[in-house]
Amino acid sequence: MNIALIAHDSKKELMVQFCIAYCGILSRHNLCATGTTGRLISEATGLQIFKFLSGSQGGDQQIAARIACDEIDLLLFFRAANYKPHEPDDANLLRLCDTRNVPVATNLATAEALIHALERGDLDWRDIVNPKR
Ligand code: PGA
Repeated sequence: MNIALIAHDSKKELMVQFCIAYCGILSRHNLCATGTTGRLISEATGLQIFKFLSGSQGGDQQIAARIACDEIDLLLFFRAANYKPHEPDDANLLRLCDTRNVPVATNLATAEALIHALERGDLDWRDIVNPKR
């Protein structure tokens, strides 16, 4: 599965802790992230992560384009209630996830539910829907 990771600034530490906790599961998948989020996770966990541009430079839009092309199977986007103007806007990303039926978590509770679902194989239908990937 292709998993995209994004965290607003105030949620980056939470994202790092989440990735440490679920490092074993995440390591069996292809990971990508916005620049700073990806760097912090890979420094803390050693996980291989493809890093797009920083969110402030359009990294979230690069991920949005991959979602639009159905190349992302799971989006974990830890968003802050009040995010800064330069931080990624969630509306476009979430709309694209709805368009492509991509499982998406915007907080820790849902991310934990989805990571367990991923481990159980509940998201394997993504491979059936998109066998060419
Ligand atoms: P970043 O992008 O991971 O590059 O910081 C996300 C954000 O700007 O919040």
